[in-house]
Amino acid sequence: MKFSAYIRNLFFPPRCAICGKMLGIASGSPLCIDCQYELSKESARLCKGCGLDQSSCTCLLPVLKPEGFLFHVKLYGYSATDRRSPANRLVYKMKSSQRSELYDDLACKLEKNVLSAVTTECSARSLTPVITYVPRSRSSVAKYGFDQAELLARALSRRLSIPTVIAVKRKHLTDAEMKSLNAAGRFTAGANAFEVNSRCGVGKNTLLIIVDDVITSGASVYWTAKTASSLGVTDFAVVSVAKTY
Ligand SMILES: [Zn+2]
Ligand SMILES: [Zn+2]
Repeated sequence: MKFSAYIRNLFFPPRCAICGKMLGIASGSPLCIDCQYELSKESARLCKGCGLDQSSCTCLLPVLKPEGFLFHVKLYGYSATDRRSPANRLVYKMKSSQRSELYDDLACKLEKNVLSAVTTECSARSLTPVITYVPRSRSSVAKYGFDQAELLARALSRRLSIPTVIAVKRKHLTDAEMKSLNAAGRFTAGANAFEVNSRCGVGKNTLLIIVDDVITSGASVYWTAKTASSLGVTDFAVVSVAKTY
């Protein structure tokens, strides 16, 4: 821990980013021991596809496989129906917290497996990695003042020295409108949710790594990739904090 951070903690004691419990002033984590323990159980949850735990599994949702996606690195299993599940609470808190320690901590946990998968795929296919993110709706960014997927993308970008670009932008659908649709409806609606940023500088031979906080139906990531494919990009990857099981 940096001395400046230690001094700041003396005056502004840090609290757990999930439950709000007071942390020790020398705490190197933005999460309390209890929340870390609960999350570790979600990380240890075995993938039915590959048999590995969530933080080692790179399996893709079936809907993404035919679209040029090469891997999905994630940290935790996520129960969309259990609001008390630790990964659910973490994702929910991310929407209203822009604490850099939280995003740095998550990027740090993702770093090793992202780097390993990126290195393998980029050397096998002669691709250049570039990071982007699923943009929040304008109303959501206006409400919270930031975009949590962008913060995670940029934290990962700093750690991996891979540039972040804004490959796509959100059009008119709000997050509330997206959420109100069922999974099948979301896929149809997503077709009109994004527009490409033609000046972002990515194209053929790019591995476009799409970052989001949580992957449930995969619709937002799917349409982000579909939209970016008009730039000539054919290879994609997903990185998220959580994935629905
Ligand atoms: Zn906690
Ligand atoms: Zn797996």
